[in-house]
Amino acid sequence: MAGIYIHIPFCKQACNYCNFHFSTVLSYKEKLVETIAKELFLRKNELRSEPIETIYFGGGTPSLLNPKELDLIIDTIYKHYDISGLKEFTLEANPDDMKPEWLQNLKGTPVNRLSIGVQSFEDEHLKLMNRAHLANEALTCIEAARNNGIEQISIDLIYGIPGMSLKTWEKNIQKALDLNVEHISSYCLTIEPKTVFGHQQRNSLLRLPCEEDIEKQFFTLLEKTGEAGFDHYEISNFAKKDFYALHNTNYWKGKSYLGIGPGAHSYFPGIRQWNVANNQKYIQELSLGNLVYEQEKLSKNDQFNEYVMTGLRTKWGINLTEIENQFGQKYIDSLRKDLAPYLENKKVKIEGQYLILTPSGKFLADGIASAAFVID
Ligand code: SF4
Repeated sequence: MAGIYIHIPFCKQACNYCNFHFSTVLSYKEKLVETIAKELFLRKNELRSEPIETIYFGGGTPSLLNPKELDLIIDTIYKHYDISGLKEFTLEANPDDMKPEWLQNLKGTPVNRLSIGVQSFEDEHLKLMNRAHLANEALTCIEAARNNGIEQISIDLIYGIPGMSLKTWEKNIQKALDLNVEHISSYCLTIEPKTVFGHQQRNSLLRLPCEEDIEKQFFTLLEKTGEAGFDHYEISNFAKKDFYALHNTNYWKGKSYLGIGPGAHSYFPGIRQWNVANNQKYIQELSLGNLVYEQEKLSKNDQFNEYVMTGLRTKWGINLTEIENQFGQKYIDSLRKDLAPYLENKKVKIEGQYLILTPSGKFLADGIASAAFVID
C-alpha cells in the first residue's frame, strides 16, 4: 500500500513564519492544476501498481482550489491509480476558505478528513503571524465542517508564539478540546531565516519565549490532551482512539509515496526524490512532457538515521530487532553507545525489543535522535 501527496503551491498571503513552497500569484492556478493532472498521468507507473491507501492534498493552500480544479485532480487519480484500498483522503484547508458553498461541494468528493490551519484562537496571534483568517472564523468553520458530514477533523495549533503566555496557550488548547475534534497537530514555532520572522529576529525585533516557557507550553499540551483522552502518538500529533493520521504514520513507517506538484517530495524504498520548487519551470517542462526532479539514493547510514529520527518521535519507538535484521549488529552497538547517557538519565528506556522516549525525553526528541545518527 502506498500514498499520494499533491502539493498545491498557492496561498492568499504569506504567513510570517512559513518557508514552504508557495506563490501568492493565483492567476495561473488553473494552468498549474492541469499540469498536476498531467504529472499524475505521466508518473502512473512509478508505484508499480501498488494500491493507494492514502491521498493527501497539502500546500500551500489546497482549499483555494475551486470545484472544477479539485475534481480534475481527483478524477485523474481515480482513473489512473488503484484506489480500491483507499482509507484516508485528507485535504488541508484554511478557515477563511471554508465557506458554505465550498463545504457543500466537498460533500460530493471522496475527501473524508480535513486538516484545518487554525494555528491559534487568538486574533492577536493570528495578526502577528499574518494569517488570513480571524479566530471567530476558525471556530465557525469547524462546526460547519461537522455539519457538512466531514468524518475526521484535525486542527493545527502553534505554541511558542512571541508574547504568548502559558494562560493563553491553555485557553487555546481548551478551545480545541471543546470543539471535539478527532486529531490535533501542534508545533512549536520555528524561525526560518528566509521569512519575515527570520528577518525580524536578525534585527532583534522578535521577542520569542525562552526555552523554559516553551517547555512548559509543550508539557501543558501533553497534560491537557492526555486528560481529554488523546493519544500522544507522535511528538507533534495527538489523536482520539482510532484516529491516527494514516498518511503521516505511513511516512514514518517508511512506506512509499508519490509526491506530485512543484516542490513535492516522493519516497520509494531507499530513494528520495523531489520536484523542482519553481511553478513556472514546472509548468514549462511538463508541457514538453519532461519530469523535473532530483533524486538521492539513500545510503545505509541515511536510512538508519531516518529510521531513528522518525521512529523515536513516535510512541512506538524504534524496534531493536528490526534494526539488527535490517542494518546489522554494528548499528545496534552504535545506538547503545550513543544513547547510553540518555538511558542513564532516563530520557529513553528499553521495553522488550523497543527503545522509546520517556515522558521527560519527549521534549528532547530531535536532539536525542541526532545523537544516535551514524555519519558517513
Ligand atoms: S497558509 Fe500555510 S502554506 Fe500558506 S503561507 Fe501560511 S502557513 Fe505557509
